[in-house]
Parts: sequence; structure tokens; C-alpha cells
Amino acid sequence: MIDFEFHTPSSLEEAFALLERHGDDARVMAGGTALILQMKQRFAQPGHVISLRGIPGLSSIEAVANGGTNAVRVGALCTQRQVETSPVIQETVPLVAETFRRVATPRIRNMGTIGGGLVHGDPNQDPPPSLIALGASVELTSSAGQRVVPVEDLFIDYYETDVQPGEIMTSILIPAAPAGSGSVYLKFLPRTADDYGTVSAAAVVSVDENNTCQDIRLVLGGVGMTPIRATEAEDLLRGRPLTEDNIRASVASVKDAVDPLEDFRGSPDYKREMAEVFARRAINQAVAAIPKG
Ligand SMILES: Cc1cc2nc3c(=O)[nH]c(=O)nc-3n(C[C@H](O)[C@H](O)[C@H](O)COP(=O)(O)OP(=O)(O)OC[C@H]3O[C@@H](n4cnc5c(N)ncnc54)[C@H](O)[C@@H]3O)c2cc1C
Repeated sequence: MIDFEFHTPSSLEEAFALLERHGDDARVMAGGTALILQMKQRFAQPGHVISLRGIPGLSSIEAVANGGTNAVRVGALCTQRQVETSPVIQETVPLVAETFRRVATPRIRNMGTIGGGLVHGDPNQDPPPSLIALGASVELTSSAGQRVVPVEDLFIDYYETDVQPGEIMTSILIPAAPAGSGSVYLKFLPRTADDYGTVSAAAVVSVDENNTCQDIRLVLGGVGMTPIRATEAEDLLRGRPLTEDNIRASVASVKDAVDPLEDFRGSPDYKREMAEVFARRAINQAVAAIPKG
């Protein structure tokens, strides 16, 4: 392990001052599940590690109004387990509770945080597809103020996000899925139950009384440098009847939208095929989850 100085600020202002003082030589730490591994592997060698855990106000979960819809504001320091088990999240955004239940093991979920996972920027992670499908956004705070970034725009490249030096992710705003819609998160796990998905897919779909697709958001994980929103597949279904033929024609476009890496979970061609299969299953299962009547 490399030598580093460990800081425990008790306010955001103190953390910003430390980030300013130590610049590129500092990294903030939430649960530490990703950062400590990177440090052990020498991918990160900060001289200063700034723990966020002593800063109050970053781990609450509250129902809020968001325009005309319900939403949940989640503090960035909430653990993945807190997100999975929160009654407010289970009631308002059940897709999110279901998705976080699929992350790793309880041991990791008890330490890893929602904010740390997003800033880590690993395209294989479970939460981003569901958060993008719901239209979630993050609040990034620095000594200069605050800005809000849709989760869809957060991921720039492989392990690279739009979080700028000096910024700390403070909260995530997650709108409820539209009334009358169905949603699902699927994780293809051919190896072990606690692995990252070979591919993953989140879908939120709403239909009218004639089975015509009113809206759809379809997002894939593990098949590119970032999570990928399958906009062409969405466009091919929006406004059209949700027949098996139309769904198949729509997800045929997914193979060209993804750009998977070769790894021990499969070849790019295999993952492309699986992306299409899981996109189709996600749409069908989201439609089946639409409340009847
Ligand atoms: C064995 C193992 C299995 C895993 N399996 C899965 C899986 O199946 N699915 C899945 O989705 N994920 C999986 N993960 C990844 C896990 O979800 C992440 O490690 C976790 O989300 C990171 O959160 P953390 O709070 O520990 O972040 P940290 O390790 O503390 O930080 C990660 C990065 O984010 C930065 N950071 C942290 N918080 C903030 C903040 N508030 N503002 C700005 N920057 C911040 C840090 O500087 C660092 O760069 C696995 C991890 C391990 C170790």
C-alpha cells in the first residue's frame, strides 16, 4: 500500500478547502470499495485521501415533488444497502430498489455508496441503466456553487465522468416512472450470482389503451465504454403498436448501438447478441409489469 494522509473533514466547506489545497494529489473517498482496490493495484496513488463519511446531511433519503411528479432525493453517501431497503424508494421508485439488490453482495452493498458508484464510472455497474431509464440527475457541489447533470450525460468514457476537480456529488434526484408505466432491470449472470452482468438492460415503457407505445426508455449496461441509451430502438417503437414483430424490429438496432469489450465474460459478438436478446426481454417484461386496469 502506498503512503497517504487520511483526512476526515466534518463539513463540505472543509472538504472543498482540502481539495483545493491538495489538487490532483487528493481523492475523496465514500465507501472505499472501489478506491482502495485502485490504490492497491496502483491505478490511483493519491497522497491525500479525503473521507466524506463524517460530513452530515449526505445520507438522507426523502420523497420530494418534482414538477408534477413524485421523486426521491437520495444523499450521495447513502449506501447501496440503504437504497435497496428504503421504504420510500421501494414505494416511489421500486425499479431502483430492485436494481440495487442486484449489486454484488450484501458485504459490498453495506459499504459502497450510490454516489461513489456513479463517480467510479465503471460501465459494467448495475445502477446507471435504471437511473438513466428513469431520467435521474445528480447534484455536483463545489466551492463555486452547484450544478445538476442528468445521469445520462454523466458518463464521458471508460471510468471517466463529467465530475470536475473540486466537485463533490452531493445528491441524486430520481423521478418516479410515469403513472401507468411498467419497468424492469435485467442482469445477465451466466457465471456467479455476485458477478457483474455480462450485459444488463433497463426499460421503462408506457402504453395507451390500444397497446400503442406512448413512451419508452431503454438503456444497456456492460456493452460499451459507458452505459448506452438505445435511442434508435426507442424511436422505432414510440407511437407504434407493441407487437412482437415491432419489438423484434426495434431491438435489431441494438447490435449497432453497442460496442462491447472482449473479456472473460464473452466476445464482443456474443455480447452484441445478448444485448439484443436482453433488450427484447426487458421490453416484454416491462410491458408485462404495467398495472392492469
Ligand atoms: C468485489 C466487488 C464486486 C462488485 N460487484 C458489483 C456489481 O455486481 N454491480 C455493481 O454495480 N457494482 C459492483 N461493484 C462496484 C461497487 O458498486 C463500487 O465499488 C461502489 O459503488 C463504489 O462506491 P464507494 O462508495 O465504495 O466508492 P469509493 O470507492 O469511495 O469511490 C469511488 C470513486 O468515486 C469517487 N467518489 C466517491 N464518492 C464521491 C462523491 N460523493 N463525490 C465525488 N467523488 C466521489 C472517489 O474519489 C473514487 O474515485 C463491485 C465492487 C467490488 C469491490
